[in-house]
Formats: sequence, C-alpha cells, structure tokens
Amino acid sequence: MDINYTEKVREIFSRREAPPLCCVHSYGCQQNVNDGERLTGMLCSMGCGVTDDMTCADVIILNTCAVRENAELKVYGNIGELKRLKEQKPHMVIGVCGCMAQEEKTAEKIKKSYRHVDMVFGTFATAELPRLLYEVLTERKFVADTAERENECPEGLPMVRSCSYKAGVAVMYGCNNFCSYCIVPYVKGRERSRKPENIIEEVKELVNNGCREIMLLGQNVNSYGKGLDEKINFPELLRRIDSIDGDFRIRFMSPHPKDATKELFDVMAESKKICRTIHLPLQSGSDRILREMNRQYTAEKYMDIVSYARKKMPGLSITTDIIVGFPNETYEDFTCTLDIMRAVKYDNIFSFIYSPRTGTKAAEIADMTPAEDKSRWFRELLAVQREISDEHYKRFMGRELTVLFDSVYKEEFISGKSDEFIITLVKGDPSLIGSMRKVRVTKTHNWAVEGEIIG
Ligand code: SAH
Ligand code: SF4
Repeated sequence: MDINYTEKVREIFSRREAPPLCCVHSYGCQQNVNDGERLTGMLCSMGCGVTDDMTCADVIILNTCAVRENAELKVYGNIGELKRLKEQKPHMVIGVCGCMAQEEKTAEKIKKSYRHVDMVFGTFATAELPRLLYEVLTERKFVADTAERENECPEGLPMVRSCSYKAGVAVMYGCNNFCSYCIVPYVKGRERSRKPENIIEEVKELVNNGCREIMLLGQNVNSYGKGLDEKINFPELLRRIDSIDGDFRIRFMSPHPKDATKELFDVMAESKKICRTIHLPLQSGSDRILREMNRQYTAEKYMDIVSYARKKMPGLSITTDIIVGFPNETYEDFTCTLDIMRAVKYDNIFSFIYSPRTGTKAAEIADMTPAEDKSRWFRELLAVQREISDEHYKRFMGRELTVLFDSVYKEEFISGKSDEFIITLVKGDPSLIGSMRKVRVTKTHNWAVEGEIIG
C-alpha cells in the first residue's frame, strides 16, 4: 500500500507552535518557475505557509538551472550563503532540486562540501518531495534522489501561483533534440506531452479566476502531441485554447525553427487571442555552426520561416536566442549571425557566450577560439542589436498598443508588456497592475516604449 507522505509531513508540522513557512526559489527558464509553483503547492498541502523571505523560512528549496556554467555558480554561491542561516535555525530544511540536481555529480558535491543541505532531488523526483521531506524530518539525515524514472507528465499535483493575472501552463516536458551544446535533454528527460483536455481544463480554471495572460510552455512546443493517443499537434492545441471563452491573451515558448510549420503561423494569424509575437531561437546564422549544433535548419530555411510569418502577420514581433563563441566559431561565422539579425530585425535577443556542459557532444570538441574574441564579438552583437532596436522600435510611434501592466517601474511610471511583447511604460497608478489597457505610444527607446493610457 502507498504511504501517504503528504499526510505524514502534515502531521509532523501540525505539532509545531506555528505552521512552518516555505520559500521556493526558481532559477532559469519559465518552465522552472512553473515547476517551482508546483513545489510550493505541494509544500502548502503539507501544511506550510509561503514566504519570499528566506530568513523567515523553515523549508527552503532552490530549484536550479544547469544550462550554463554561470547559472550553476550562482546556485553554489546562494547555497553557500544559506550556511549561516542554518546555523541560526538548525531545524530549517534546505533542499536543492531541478536540473543541476539531476546530475549525480551535484549531489556528490553538495553532500561533501555543503553539509547544511538536507536533500537533493532531480527533475524526475518532484513527486517524491513529501517522502524526502518526511525522511529528513524523521531521521535528520541527508537524502538524495537523482534516479532517472520512466517520466510522466505531472498531473493532479497542487500548485500555488506566484501571480494571479499571468500564468505559465506546461504543454509538454523534456526534449529530444539534443542540440550539441545543450544539457536540457539529459536533465529534463525525453519529450512527453500533456493530454489536451488537462491543458484546456487548467487554462479554463486560470481564466475563470481572472488570469489575463496564458504562456504555454515547453522546450520545443512545436513537438507537442507526439506519443499521445489522440492525434493532435501544436497548432491544433492553439486553436482549441484560442476558442476558450474569456478575456485573455496567449503566448508560447519556445518553438523550434525546424518544426515551425506554416500551419502554426496560419493559426496565429487567424486567432484573436494569440499575441503577435514569436520567440524563434536562431542560435547562429552560420550554416556550418548550425550543423555542428545539430539544429537541423539552415540560415535560408530560418529566413523562409520568418518571411512566411511576416507575410501572414505584417509587423509580427520576433525575439530570439543567440549563442556566441560555439567551439571553433570564426569571425566569418559570427558575421553570418549579425546578417540574420539585421535581416530579421529582432525586437529583443537573449544572447549567451557558449558555455561547455559536461556530457554534451560540443563539450568534447577541442575549442581553438580564444575567449577574448568571444567576449569582443559578444559586445559587438549587443551593440548591433541596440542599433536595430533603436530603429525598429520607432514603428510603434503613435500606435495604439494593448498592455498588461505587471510592475512599478520608477517614480510615477508603471510598466507592462504589449501584445507584441514590448515593454511599455506609462505614468499611472500601481493599482493598474494586473489590468489591461490601451496605450498610445508617445516615445520610443531601444528597449521599451513610453505612452499614455487612452480610453
Ligand atoms: N528549448 C529552448 C531553449 C532552452 S535553453 C529552445 O530550444 O529554444 C535556453 C537558451 O540557452 C538556448 O536557446 C540557448 O541559446 C542557450 N543555451 C543552451 N545551452 C547553452 C550553452 N551550453 N551555452 C550557452 N548558451 C546555451
Ligand atoms: Fe536544448 Fe535544443 Fe532541446 Fe532547446 S531544443 S532544450 S536548445 S536541446
């Protein structure tokens, strides 16, 4: 018979004077943030309250990212800082989970060098949190679970959302692409899609509770549907979500260019709720590097996709991810990336210097490109993008954008994102946060636009 560890932990916590507080801190991608909301939900169902302040927490979970080395260094820095806190509060439970924790070397390193950590569990063990916590609480020993499991989509686990008006909804987990630089397929496992009815039910519930923006999440959302009994692809899923009643908008992240079909853009163009923006990771503009990266498209194919998308949706906003300094990249390769940037006119780029990840194919390549060159090219890339945005953002001047406000910027300014996913600043009251308004653009920068609320 299955032991109900959630109940057992709840029972232990209920004997405390006050309910313990938990703090889950997620690093990295939106999908991690989404997983973190599930971990918080599970801790709440075990009787915890929630705090953002680690110094007040009784259970701290660091939900980690392994995609680049500096992400890992940051995590180790933060784990180190928790040592003092644990000395002051010895009853505190500290857990490290997520992508880094899926790698066995992390558990070993933490067990050896960070003895104030109580548990380490990988992405395959999220549902095991109640058992692991129970073991820590009853035996006060270090526990680790980095086993790879036949992984299913987590369904039915509670979630506590960090925001009421915008939410991430996972449509699929894992990745089968094995881009040669990327650790994700090794730490998040094989691709698996959620059943459409579960996704739709989750979206309906969020919308009924007042959520105004749904971000569909997956490492390669275009692969959605493979392996499901029902024959369904990502564009069809989008169609179904678009037809849900309610005043909300839809985004998704990320589609892989190799699987970006015309049908995807046709559905976007026909839809009322899907934002006129797409994040289409380029990584490199050099065919040679793209081949080495195992991206399975060429620069020409990428540009064909962009042309079709813009033909269907003139003014479509496009953002991307770019890696600078893949092993043995030359300046000529790099300039091909700049060429594509200039041709596409991205509204924003997320750029990274290549970081070797042990276990990936690219990490085995002897890299002759000097680090100083990579840094110089990286700076050049940022400068080129600033120029592009400077010019390209001017197209919004005088236009009316629909903006969902999400934060206070500074002084009297609040900030939000338009349907094109452009940061939009207005003078306005913080009480507008969480609401959608029409804004007329009166000024443009290379990272945002400013305007006035109309109507
Ligand atoms: N599944 C998503 C990306 C996940 S990782 C996609 O394919 O678009 C997010 C971004 O991190 C990638 O797009 C890539 O640009 C960057 N990245 C991944 N591995 C990296 C590495 N080893 N070094 C530098 N950047 C990397
Ligand atoms: Fe990594 Fe490529 Fe999968 Fe994206 S598609 S997660 S970059 S392997």
